[in-house]
Amino acid sequence: AFGKDIVPQAPEDPMFGLMAAYRRDTAEMKIDLGIGAYRDNNGKPWILPVVKQADELLRKDPNLNHEYLPIAGLPDFTSASQKLVFGKDSPVVTEKRVVSFQTISGTGALHIGALFLSKFYNRSASEAPAIYMSNPTWANHNQVFGNVNIPTKQYPYFSRETCSLDFDGMINTIKSAPAGSIVLLHACAHNPTGVDPTQEQWKQIASVMKEHHLFPFFDTAYQGFASGSLAKDGWAINYFVEQGFELLVAQSYAKNFGLYGERAGCFHFVTSPASNAQDTVARVGSQLAILQRSEISNPPAYGARIASLVLNDPKLFAQWEEDLRTMSGRIIEMRKALRGKLEELKTPGTWHHITDQIGMFSFTGLDERQVGELREKYHVYMTKNGRISMAGLNTGNVEYFADAVDAVVR
Ligand code: PMP
Repeated sequence: AFGKDIVPQAPEDPMFGLMAAYRRDTAEMKIDLGIGAYRDNNGKPWILPVVKQADELLRKDPNLNHEYLPIAGLPDFTSASQKLVFGKDSPVVTEKRVVSFQTISGTGALHIGALFLSKFYNRSASEAPAIYMSNPTWANHNQVFGNVNIPTKQYPYFSRETCSLDFDGMINTIKSAPAGSIVLLHACAHNPTGVDPTQEQWKQIASVMKEHHLFPFFDTAYQGFASGSLAKDGWAINYFVEQGFELLVAQSYAKNFGLYGERAGCFHFVTSPASNAQDTVARVGSQLAILQRSEISNPPAYGARIASLVLNDPKLFAQWEEDLRTMSGRIIEMRKALRGKLEELKTPGTWHHITDQIGMFSFTGLDERQVGELREKYHVYMTKNGRISMAGLNTGNVEYFADAVDAVVR
């Protein structure tokens, strides 16, 4: 029943293939720049000190057990997540215009949002509304929306010439999208390019989207991790909220808490200010509960408990902000070091984009041949599109990497 004409062999996930090749490499000096997880200056996974503290507190709690969480997740976690994304005093929270569900990290939040849209969004339209996503985007976005049969389209995003935002291309494509289309936006630290719109550009994007009746879906996977400031990294979403949009948010705690494998995340539905807003939120929430129940029944507890403890305790929260500055600060230092070294070597080309870009990833502008040579000759592993994870660089290997880049570019 499952012959190869029906179930063809699928290609290996390129990220996981890359990781496997890195592990097989026996060279003494090798660098993994594919990895989408933070590493400390010794190249090791880093448990945030605040997560260690929260974990110890949790383990001491005599009331802790392994019962199921409610379908919507841990209430203290979802309410704290709302405050984190929208701000403590946000009208979205005080006017009860938001409903939130704890999810299987950011991917699960994207999925429940996608599933909800596929079932309920613009059902009366003659053509199913498409979701527009940046070219390039996190590869999984295509699959998550494709899986629930939402047509996917692209808007230009990255200029290969300048290694920065192709703002004209982006805004013109968004302008030409049919009314009712969904637009997927990375709230900050765009993956894979590291390129974000400026606040001025965000304002223009919002204005065009409002004028053309487009529906925003924000993916926020790096709040606090990008700049070190939670407010700064959350600015774009809140600007859209202030403009009165109805919108969706998929929130991940993988990177900013280092809780990757614990799968802590949250999905938010926000409705516009209107007299029936609370009624809308109640109806949407009731349908989300059915979707959640049928997909995962109820979300996993551990990661949400850790995050909840930290988010709801002022002292731990302050420690968390410190830890965020440690991670973002180290990454910003590595950007400076890499750019500085390349400029010192007078490596052909310009390298200011390395420090202009932000977050975990950088689109270096290296082409496929150069990426191949880095791997074959220098044991440096990165994706073919020239993306590097800044977290893979440290004071022990950044010079080696810059020298290798210099060699393949010349
Ligand atoms: N969106 C983006 C843009 C990401 O980079 C990631 C993490 N790689 C995610 C969502 C979701 O990741 P997770 O499911 O691990 O939270």
